[in-house]
Amino acid sequence: MPEWLNALPKAELHLHLEGSLEPELLFALAERNQIALPWADVETLRAAYAFNNLQEFLDLYYAGANVLRTEQDFYDLTWAYLQRCKAQNVIHVEPFFDPQTHTDRGIPFEVVLRGIQQALLDGEQQLGISHGLILSFLRHLPEEEAFKTLEQAMPFRDAFIGVGLDSSEKGFPPRLFERVFAKARSEGLHAVAHAGEEGPPEYIWEALDLLKIKRIDHGVRAIEDERLMQRIIDEQIPLTVCPLSNIKLCVFEHMGQHNILEMLERGVKVTVNSDDPAYFGGYVGENFAALHQHLGMTEAQAKRLAQNSLDARLV
Ligand SMILES: [Zn+2]
Repeated sequence: MPEWLNALPKAELHLHLEGSLEPELLFALAERNQIALPWADVETLRAAYAFNNLQEFLDLYYAGANVLRTEQDFYDLTWAYLQRCKAQNVIHVEPFFDPQTHTDRGIPFEVVLRGIQQALLDGEQQLGISHGLILSFLRHLPEEEAFKTLEQAMPFRDAFIGVGLDSSEKGFPPRLFERVFAKARSEGLHAVAHAGEEGPPEYIWEALDLLKIKRIDHGVRAIEDERLMQRIIDEQIPLTVCPLSNIKLCVFEHMGQHNILEMLERGVKVTVNSDDPAYFGGYVGENFAALHQHLGMTEAQAKRLAQNSLDARLV
């Protein structure tokens, strides 16, 4: 990666902590927790990272998350991510965590949260990286389950800044979560949601109008709807775009087709993020580098993208 790209101060606004679990750490945690893995070694696991769509990735992602058991595991996971951020001059992070991925297999909510929170606090003190944690609901589960998760989280209200919506998009439109998002907002939490990755532009409209989100995660399919494009430009609603993820999950066939720079030039507040870097081939820096290499992103464009990420912070 060119040094000038690495040196740009950036914020990362779309990152799933569970998706930063590198195969090496996954194997180390499996050994520590005495969990048998279906893969023989790190190389076999890495070779399985070839996906045809979002669901194929999610199946592997949930299998991987199974090695996370103790507060120390969640600390180590978060700390490893923050070290990568430090190396790439990411100065602010607003990561997601998926409590339901863990509470549904018997890990107490506070075990997950305490491990993550302590690492984020240490990251602030020792690495100078500021943060705001976002609790994300799994949309393939019913809204009732999201309500339960929000209830579990409320005693720790100060540990996070907002709620998000992730997991399988198609067939699970934002409108299914209107009530739980209203409840979260009434508690003073910010709202963001994945929309318009695999799902149609209608899902982005719903996320804006019904969930009243402040930021769209992905949103690359907005470009199919001119009225929607005009709105996100007029209102300067940020999009947290994840280029390498989009290629890995076949949202675009290859990086040369990605629309992020076209959106940037049209005045959309797009940002560059890594989504699930351990699975998709790189962190924020590698995502910037891919745009430089395959789309001819200029230094001026890179600076605007980095500045957008700092402007689009929730805290
Ligand atoms: Zn995501």
